[in-house]
Amino acid sequence: MRLRNITGSREVIAQSPYVIHEDTLEARPGTWGEIFGNSAPIHIEIGMGKGKFIHTMARLHPDINYVGIEKYSSVLLRALQKMEEEELPNLKFIRMDAEDICKVFAEGEVDRIYLNFSDPWPKDRHAKRRLPSREFLARYDRILKKDGWLEFKTDNRPLFDFAVEELEPAGWNARVITYDLHRDPALMEGNVMTEYEEKFSSMGNPICKYVIFRS
Ligand code: SAM
Repeated sequence: MRLRNITGSREVIAQSPYVIHEDTLEARPGTWGEIFGNSAPIHIEIGMGKGKFIHTMARLHPDINYVGIEKYSSVLLRALQKMEEEELPNLKFIRMDAEDICKVFAEGEVDRIYLNFSDPWPKDRHAKRRLPSREFLARYDRILKKDGWLEFKTDNRPLFDFAVEELEPAGWNARVITYDLHRDPALMEGNVMTEYEEKFSSMGNPICKYVIFRS
């Protein structure tokens, strides 16, 4: 039966061979090499939505292991449908709130983190929920390899300005900052568009991007 014909997304996710379950002991820190059956680098996208970006990346880079993280079952289900159409051995998913990311990856286990078009949480009192906030940067600091880096793209200028301001207090440095990615041919080389990037750039919104390392 094709996934799109099944209504209960939680049940589908529970049985999916593409999903590693945070609430069982499957996704334990330090076990990702075993899960993928090799020791290739691990790149993760946090808040992957329907998975267009990470699925494309996994197809283009078979020598990298990818893990897509998404909070909502109904959204993750769409990524599973893509996997059903084109199965990739180097891509797995977890349905979880990224607040708990340190429960599923060991210190230094991740080689690269992608944040794409993260939810802006515009109210000040919700700043801690923003995925590029200093609270989240502290979590990424634990799971990311020493020389690993994080890439963030968004068309939301207030969120991007906030993200840039968070870097220094959190102890991170930007190697790349652009406020108009699509007009920068060098940075566009190898750029894989996310679903939101396609939508907002086609509306004429400039796309901001940074690439950051620990200081
Ligand atoms: N990255 C995709 C793109 O660029 O097309 C989707 C962007 S969408 C605006 C943000 C996604 O992040 C949503 O699917 C949302 O459910 C997910 N998300 C937000 N906060 C999250 C969290 N704390 N943990 C995991 N996923 C989260």
